[in-house]
Amino acid sequence: MSEQPVIICPHCKSDNVLPFEEESRGPANESLFIIIFLALAILGAYFLFVISSYLFFPAVVFAFVILSSYLINRQDRKKKKKTTAHVLKEHICLDCSNDFLA
Ligand SMILES: [Zn+2]
Repeated sequence: MSEQPVIICPHCKSDNVLPFEEESRGPANESLFIIIFLALAILGAYFLFVISSYLFFPAVVFAFVILSSYLINRQDRKKKKKTTAHVLKEHICLDCSNDFLA
């Protein structure tokens, strides 16, 4: 079951094209950055939680947890919006070896 539309080369009108897979660029680096950022944020939140639970009342901790979950939610929504957007994929023609976006 192949639901892929037929893609035709704009240079020679051939349908002998392949998608140009390049997974090292774009979202991969960004998600790695987000993972590192989240790890640091969780570590920071943990230390803040320990310190504030000793020094302040639990209300401060509670407020911090609410704030951090709000920030994580916002980041998720931003990510979802990005993934649903249509992205032109690079293809390479096997007949004339030109690459194009389709
Ligand atoms: Zn071509």
